[in-house]
This record gives sequence, C-alpha cells and structure tokens, in this order.
Amino acid sequence: MIQNKEQWLEEASRKIKVPKELIARAFHEELEGNPAIDAPLEVPDIMDITYKYTYGGISRFFRELRDNQQLYGTKCTTCGTVWLPPRINCNECYAPTTWVKLGDTARIVTYTIVYYATSVFYGKTPYVCAFVKVDGADTLIMQNVFLKDVRQAKVGMKLKIQFKENRNGDMGDFWFVPAQEAL
Ligand SMILES: [Zn+2]
Repeated sequence: MIQNKEQWLEEASRKIKVPKELIARAFHEELEGNPAIDAPLEVPDIMDITYKYTYGGISRFFRELRDNQQLYGTKCTTCGTVWLPPRINCNECYAPTTWVKLGDTARIVTYTIVYYATSVFYGKTPYVCAFVKVDGADTLIMQNVFLKDVRQAKVGMKLKIQFKENRNGDMGDFWFVPAQEAL
C-alpha cells in the first residue's frame, strides 16, 4: 500500500507531466484499493517520441499552399477528372495524374455546423465545416468555412479561399469565407 498518497501523486505528476487528478484516477485501485500483493504493479511513466512523416506524391499540394498560397489539384491524364484533394493516380481509371492550378473561388455543396471542436479550433466555434467544390476541380474537398453568423451558411453559397499568415504546409493553412467578405 502506498504510504504517502499525496507525495506519491506529486512526484508522479512532476515525472510524467500529467495533472495529479488524472494520475489519481488512473491509479485509483493502487491508491485506494487493496490489490493483492502479487497483482501486477503499474508504474506511471512517460515516453517522448520524435518522428517525421512524408506527404509522398502529394507533397507539392502542401508546398504550393505554404510557399505560394495556391491551391493545386491533379488532373487525370486519361479521363481528365480534376481531383481535389489531389490523387497521384485517378480514382476512377487509375491512370497517372498531372498537377493543375485551381481557382480561389468555390461553392458550398453540403455543410454542417461545428459546436464542439478539437484544440486546433478552440475559440472558433461555432463554425461551418463544408464539402466545397473549388472552381476548376471536379471533386469535393472538406474544409472549414468561417462566417460572421453560421446561420448565413447555404448550399450553393459562393466562397473565396483565405490563407493563414504563417503557413506550415498543412490543411490548416487555408479555409473559406463568403466571396463578398473576401478582400
Ligand atoms: Zn481518370
């Protein structure tokens, strides 16, 4: 049995950088219960992992966003379908694709209103998450639409792309606003 629970929690919290309340919950049985002397003894610990990953064949899409504030799709070399999000090979006929520059305007095809978001969008709720058709693309892309009032959202609404000031080369680099509000 843990003798000084408070001290044990403080040390564990310092060690693994997790609030004491969460550790207390995770180790409730050991702290409060009376596990058998030979029951598995669990130990709080921390694991830091640094890694990198690649966007592979669609890397250019993210570099164009980051470096040139430009939306690119891919066009099938056989059937001509323009894909956004980009595909290295056509989803319809599997032929290779080539890069094509897309317009900066789009339309809402369908949407929902988001009231509960992940940490990236805390403070931005409620906002509209929509499937939009960007001019020049044949397929739909899901992206956020920021409106002054989410009740303005309508199927068919004309949009304009906006880019984040400090771009990282990821999907958070851009979003859409109503065309008439864009600069
Ligand atoms: Zn095709």
